[in-house]
Amino acid sequence: MNITTTTLRQWLRRSAELIQAERERLTDLDAAIGDADHGVNLNRGFVAVVEALPTMHDLDAGAMLKATGMRLIATVGGASGPLYGTAFRRMGRQLEGMNSLDAATLVGALHAFVEGVQTIGKATIGDKTMVDALSPAVATLDTAVATGALLPQAMREAAECAKASAEGTIPLLARRGRASYLGERSIGHQDPGATSAALLIQALADVVAQEAK
Ligand code: ADP
Ligand code: MG
Repeated sequence: MNITTTTLRQWLRRSAELIQAERERLTDLDAAIGDADHGVNLNRGFVAVVEALPTMHDLDAGAMLKATGMRLIATVGGASGPLYGTAFRRMGRQLEGMNSLDAATLVGALHAFVEGVQTIGKATIGDKTMVDALSPAVATLDTAVATGALLPQAMREAAECAKASAEGTIPLLARRGRASYLGERSIGHQDPGATSAALLIQALADVVAQEAK
């Protein structure tokens, strides 16, 4: 199964839907260990991305994801705007000139997505950030694809991993971002960015499953 530019556009739309639906929960999570703006910020950004999709019709996958990243940087703000923005730009850079990608290429592009977050944010696994959901999810996807799973199944495993990994941030002490200012008091709360990251992975799993039908 190949992922087309159309599927990627649907991914962005589905991401916007899930973020809209979970906006309040994301903001509540951020209220506990941050400044209560994560859901609002991200929703504003993805609304802007969906609004811009009609202008992206002629773009290849790489250019479209780079434009998405720019749009997120311009509209989201906070820590997560530059982090997700850079992630999409890095992913786009991997897909320059492509209109269709196979599973291995998608895996490579998602590795670049995570590396984009890490280049900007310097977080590693266990720091209680979006990296805690993204990194294991992409590793799971990579292993599943490398061992012959079909993409819908591999993406489902990745989405389950991302969700469980986001929940796994609850006992962690935050070492990056605003939540780190709380020290020990950051323990016992789920990280909002890890939670939104799991939604982006879920959105991709959803559109891949839909496409495979
Ligand atoms: P802000 O903290 O500026 O209000 P948001 O509320 O939009 O930004 O996003 C907060 C989320 O950003 C956190 O839950 C965390 O997952 C993520 N984050 C913050 N700093 C970093 C970092 N250095 N690396 C990776 N992710 C980070
Ligand atoms: Mg915040």
